[in-house]
Amino acid sequence: MVHSSDWLKALIVMLRPFKDARLNSSEDILEALSRLSGIIIEDKAGTFIGARMGRPEKAAQREMSPPVNLLFPIGSNGGPSRDFINALNNNEKITVELVKRRCSSCNKKTWTHKCPECRIPTEIIGECESCGFEKRYDEETVCEKCGGNITYYEKYVINIAEKLYEVSREINDPLPGKIKGVKGLNSLTKTPEDLAKGILRAKHELYVYKDGTIRFDVTNAPLTHFKPGQIGTSVDKLRKLGYTHDIFGEPLTSPEQILELRIQDVIIPRKAAEHLLRVSRFIDDELKKLAGMEPYYNWEKPEDIIGELIVVLSPHTYAGSVARVVGIIDGLICFAHPVLHAAKRRDCDGDEDSIMLLLDPLINFSRLYLPNRVGGRMDSPLLITSIVYPEEVDEQAHNLDVVEAYPLEFYRKARKNEHVSNIVRIIPTIKNYLEKPEAFAGCRFTHPQSLLVTSVKESAYKKHSSMLGKIIGQIEIAERLAGVDVSLMVEKIMETHLLPDIVGNARAFFTQEFRCKRCGSKYRRLPITSRCYNCGDELKQTVYRGAVEKYVELTQELLGKYVKNQYLREQALIALEGIKKILSKEELSEASGRQVSLEKFM
Ligand SMILES: [Zn+2]
Ligand SMILES: [Zn+2]
Ligand SMILES: [Zn+2]
Repeated sequence: MVHSSDWLKALIVMLRPFKDARLNSSEDILEALSRLSGIIIEDKAGTFIGARMGRPEKAAQREMSPPVNLLFPIGSNGGPSRDFINALNNNEKITVELVKRRCSSCNKKTWTHKCPECRIPTEIIGECESCGFEKRYDEETVCEKCGGNITYYEKYVINIAEKLYEVSREINDPLPGKIKGVKGLNSLTKTPEDLAKGILRAKHELYVYKDGTIRFDVTNAPLTHFKPGQIGTSVDKLRKLGYTHDIFGEPLTSPEQILELRIQDVIIPRKAAEHLLRVSRFIDDELKKLAGMEPYYNWEKPEDIIGELIVVLSPHTYAGSVARVVGIIDGLICFAHPVLHAAKRRDCDGDEDSIMLLLDPLINFSRLYLPNRVGGRMDSPLLITSIVYPEEVDEQAHNLDVVEAYPLEFYRKARKNEHVSNIVRIIPTIKNYLEKPEAFAGCRFTHPQSLLVTSVKESAYKKHSSMLGKIIGQIEIAERLAGVDVSLMVEKIMETHLLPDIVGNARAFFTQEFRCKRCGSKYRRLPITSRCYNCGDELKQTVYRGAVEKYVELTQELLGKYVKNQYLREQALIALEGIKKILSKEELSEASGRQVSLEKFM
């Protein structure tokens, strides 16, 4: 044990306080200390790297807004939630645009895949709006005879109650409490999904995406090594999945041994595993009841996902990659090898990607569902990569270093602020291993971790549901941090978030449309009767006062306490004053959604 007095003695000897200790004007404090003591004293940290949160973590089933169980149009029937059961209870016949198909045997037109009479498959038919020329489906929309417009759909009147009861009987599954459809289909052919899929998805509390698949969105995190104990998977199971030896070449026998994650293996959140269990039941139902096949998954618990295949896909792309689930964690994050993230066209920095159970896109995806507009094909599994080749993924992932420790030379060069291109070759990276047989075996790491998930499983940013709570929380933290200028931070929030929001919502409020509660008709101006021309029902505002007033109080408070920038202050004050002036008058008229007599303004 060294006493503090010993340290002091050592310090005095080193600093030689009785020598001439004047600073040369050209040297900084570390240089002076080094000169005086005769010992090289380096800066403790030469370069500082700061980080701030980009977006909070996410792990949840994807829902379109509003959520949809079934890609089948219901128009304005079924109420605002587009519920088929609601339309059925009101015994409504629905008029909707659906694909035009024809039976080659009896020549009858229908929207169903099988001819209702002959029970044989039907074919999609395109028809020219100008000359009536008919053709088989080939995505072409210009008539080869007259240059007119070819459409692949027409209007049908459907007795939806009859249809739903028929399907429910066929699959021997009772109708659920709700089946949410879509207002209209926006694909080229307006091909709907089988009604039975809606019954089954609703039964398993699942929602469908625009392409017919069910998605789970989850934040990415990179991982190269793990211990069986960290991912809740038994040693026996992992041995069966091919993890027979640890990174030191020892046979795997203990949950504490370190294993190298294979590049197409992933560790998913428990929430995702629970979701995929429901998807597996939906798919088994489909196989049994729609295809007359044996169920494939037969899972009983979320852990049954271990060893099974999923498809991972990034938004803005149309190529998914197959991955295998090897573990489940309690965090809200999906761990995968950096190479797999790169295969999805991601740079592993906390983006959000989606996962699907493999059979779901294979059975339920169809190009025929994809919206017929720019970007309509984005974020759909048009291609699925079964084997990921590291040399084919984005180069950024090749820069991952694979060593246990950095050599001294690295620190020396870093001290001199040498360019990264001079340092890169000192440290082996994935790039050095590409196209060699030993690639990705023998990858090492610099910092061991005992836990993959800490006791904090959800960031405070997510716990505060309102923007108000988030901002107050942020200010509370900032006030405790010496390195943060609270005024500057609040001014930034004001400038980039609060003011644009207040001004934008005020504009939206005063130029808003009105919508009919029942039929959904939209009005640019409120008619004098304030009732719908279509069905006579009451019209509703589409933007409410609350949206405008939401941040007024907060902005006022922040202005008083923190905002020093004079220009910003006045900008905010003018915006607030304007809103208060107008809203106090508007209170009577707009809030009730009704017109007010002219005298009120005189
Ligand atoms: Zn027929
Ligand atoms: Zn034509
Ligand atoms: Zn109406």
